[in-house]
Amino acid sequence: MYRKNCEKCNRPSFGSSEFGKWFCPLCGNDLTERPFFDANTLERIHVKTFPRKRILQNYQKI
Ligand SMILES: [Zn+2]
Repeated sequence: MYRKNCEKCNRPSFGSSEFGKWFCPLCGNDLTERPFFDANTLERIHVKTFPRKRILQNYQKI
């Protein structure tokens, strides 16, 4: 479970996926580019989405 903080309404938002768009359920602010935090420990999580993107691009070239 992940947590992101909305800078607009200063409320936490929770989700289970590190992929796709993430919007604040309260104000609709786009939180996709905000850092991930662990919902339980509140530690910052560094999600590695770039290598996956690179793999997809390599497939398209072939
Ligand atoms: Zn918000």
